[in-house]
Amino acid sequence: MIRIKGGKVYDPAHGVDAELRDVYVRDGRIVPAPAAGAPGDEEYDCTGMVIMAGAIDLHTHIGGGKVNIARAMLPEDHRATGVGRTALTRSGSGHAAPSTFSAGYRYAEMGYTACFEPAMLPSNARQAHMEMGDTPIVDKGAYALLGNDDFLLRLLAGKSDPAMVRNYVAWTLSATQALGIKAVNPGGISAFKFNARKLDVDEPAPHYGVTPRAILAALTRALQELGVPHPLHVHASNLGVPGNVDSTLATMDAAEGRPIHLTHIQFHSYGAEGDRKFSSGAARIAEAINRRRNVTADVGQILFGQTITASGDSMAQYRNSRLAHPNKWVCMDIECDAGCGVVPFRYRDQSFVNALQWAIGLEIFLLVDDPWRVFLTTDHPNGAPFTGYPHLVRLLMDRGFRNDRLAQIHPDAAAASTVGRIQREYSLYEIAIMTRAAPARILGLADRGHLAAGAAADIVAYLDQPDREAMFMQPEYVFKDGQLVARRGRVVHVTRGATHTVKPEFDRSIERPLREFFDRYQTVSFDNVPIDGGEMIDCGSREVLVHPCAGRT
Ligand SMILES: [Zn+2]
Repeated sequence: MIRIKGGKVYDPAHGVDAELRDVYVRDGRIVPAPAAGAPGDEEYDCTGMVIMAGAIDLHTHIGGGKVNIARAMLPEDHRATGVGRTALTRSGSGHAAPSTFSAGYRYAEMGYTACFEPAMLPSNARQAHMEMGDTPIVDKGAYALLGNDDFLLRLLAGKSDPAMVRNYVAWTLSATQALGIKAVNPGGISAFKFNARKLDVDEPAPHYGVTPRAILAALTRALQELGVPHPLHVHASNLGVPGNVDSTLATMDAAEGRPIHLTHIQFHSYGAEGDRKFSSGAARIAEAINRRRNVTADVGQILFGQTITASGDSMAQYRNSRLAHPNKWVCMDIECDAGCGVVPFRYRDQSFVNALQWAIGLEIFLLVDDPWRVFLTTDHPNGAPFTGYPHLVRLLMDRGFRNDRLAQIHPDAAAASTVGRIQREYSLYEIAIMTRAAPARILGLADRGHLAAGAAADIVAYLDQPDREAMFMQPEYVFKDGQLVARRGRVVHVTRGATHTVKPEFDRSIERPLREFFDRYQTVSFDNVPIDGGEMIDCGSREVLVHPCAGRT
């Protein structure tokens, strides 16, 4: 038995806020304290430390195929850096698009123990799981993309029985070993292929004539009826377009009160006011989230510097390609399933637009009241590489630091933002909600994100330092399933993570039209689509964990 003793525990899932208590671990699980504080076989003295469950990133592009394109496109991102050393390109490195190994190591070193890939094309699921299987230590899971695929759009255009949509959604989750469903620019990627360059929420798309609103309604309904814990994960229409705040609000309403998660909402919170026709819509978005209990969002904060953007949204990425830095980009397609665009980008604090994007993200964090419904992401690598999280935590926790930074950005952007007037500072308890308890809850991971007996022993001990960036950058101890994997910010032991999935019940009669569709249009035969559990293990997953669905079908 392991005893993690003397630390101050933050476990918001159970209302535990900075309580001094010991945590006991046996066989990879947290266990009740033995009588009279018995010593463990192994003891870690955590006096002066903060203890939290392992952090969970619910939206990070670490293995959906696009990352491989990003890696190939930016060899300059894969330089071994070091003071006074010639920068050499080498494997096992990378900043904006790290290698699989680097991604697993860097996450574990920061105290993250589970990461979720949000853009897995069903036709590319096998490759995505191989890539994630090659990412060590952390647990993984993925959301399968639907909403621009011809099979679904045909069902909706033909006003098919909602049961068919539901069965198709369940079949997709099962066949692709996914944990949830994501809709990217619903209908818009398909519309792009028919030469549309924009698509509003109530605009019928060319060819199928289906509106984004109808797609969102059908998918949120299917997931609710199947009882899938994670709501529809939505990258809304008009990403990055000034004035898109209206389509973002319409997207929230399209869920008709059912649960919906809006991802990287910072990129969807723009007004079109002022001389530059670009303004913050953060107050309207935060107010809408505060009012609608069915809505959750992650921010997709931008941080300044070089990164690469990788998205299923071909329409938006084609639009962004003129901003590529360095000047190279890719838009491509696989099986007409969804889309893919990879565009390198450098966010500059002296650019009015970039500086205001930075401020808008912070406004959303600070104006949404409920930390259970707003999540800490940079949409890695789109807003910034995930290694910027400790810096972002400090921006949220330390008003002085935030205002110092605000004074350095483009002065017109600073003046156009309310960030400087917002007093709020996040507490450690709120950070623990936002990065542990809430993501576990919204993903349906009952034994993660908390520290009660029975939970997986994913535990982090941080030295309690006033510099929160330094604190969160380099935890003292990181345990994954009860094994010490990182010490003072360095990996000390490499393990394999599990894969989190759902497998809701469905009526197999959907396989007949699907088989006909695959025979007629796809290059992969229907029988070769489903990925079985054995394959998942062969490609590096430790085990496939199936989370229950509370379906009422
Ligand atoms: Zn994303």
